[in-house]
Amino acid sequence: MTAGAMNEIRVGIAGCAGRMGRMLLRQTVGHGRCVVVGGSEREDSDTIGRDLGELAGIGSLGLAVGRDPGPVFEAADVVLDFTSPAATACHAGLAAATGAALVAGTTGLDGEQEKAIGDASAKTAIVRAANMSVGVNLLLALTRRVAATLGPDFDIEVLEMHHRHKVDAPSGTALALGRAAASGRGVDHDDMADRGRDGISGERRRGAIGYAALRGGNVAGEHAVIFAADDERVELVHKATDREIFARGALAAAVWLRGKPPGLYSMADVLDLRA
Ligand code: NAD
Repeated sequence: MTAGAMNEIRVGIAGCAGRMGRMLLRQTVGHGRCVVVGGSEREDSDTIGRDLGELAGIGSLGLAVGRDPGPVFEAADVVLDFTSPAATACHAGLAAATGAALVAGTTGLDGEQEKAIGDASAKTAIVRAANMSVGVNLLLALTRRVAATLGPDFDIEVLEMHHRHKVDAPSGTALALGRAAASGRGVDHDDMADRGRDGISGERRRGAIGYAALRGGNVAGEHAVIFAADDERVELVHKATDREIFARGALAAAVWLRGKPPGLYSMADVLDLRA
């Protein structure tokens, strides 16, 4: 084996025909150290048997979409999984059985499905994050830090804007930012959260963590955490213009996982933001 091949990271993609899956295919192929070794889809997908590269619009890769994820996990050093909660729980078991590392990005898992990931992490290394963007994870760490430094004279407001099709508010990322602020300040988030104001809502409660959600256009995702005191204001802002940022973060996690011992890791570990 050449030094280059030894350094290479063999990547499998579960849910390879999905929006994230196709992006991950394109980014893995364009990545200097990673090589695609397989992709799987749900059994009844009409993409089964199609060429992975053709699917992603990048020409033939000579690999077909599989209905059985087993061979993908066997061939891969790391599998990127952006599928469905049930599929991700099942894939965690396969990662444990084969020793492949796992980047688990699927959201909406219930307690039992999250437990399946936790159990599998006793046998293999897993990065689990509901938002894999490097910038958003940095924003979370900064929010915790700033909230810890600025006292309760600074009112905390979390503002987010998303496209007109989003059905939930505030966004999961906005709530994660509010929780990061609460943990930095050493208070209970759910006690302090103020999730909606309308009409005569009264004066601002001291120490509240307020939320506001805007909807419109095709905005991929914008978040701001505002710390407002008398006479000064600190604002932390992140603006996403494309979902590619999640795929880039997933690839960064895949590279970071190389050689890691079994365990459940987060993007804070990948980005060394724990301090
Ligand atoms: P999508 O519906 O476009 O893609 C999901 C794909 O998974 C589909 O092609 C589906 O057929 C496939 N799939 C379902 N069951 C499967 C199985 N058993 N085996 C193999 N493939 C299976 O959705 P999407 O927008 O790509 O998002 C997928 C998931 O990733 C969602 O839960 C979404 O919320 C999450 N997500 C997370 C992040 C992050 O940063 N962590 C970013 C974007 C999306």
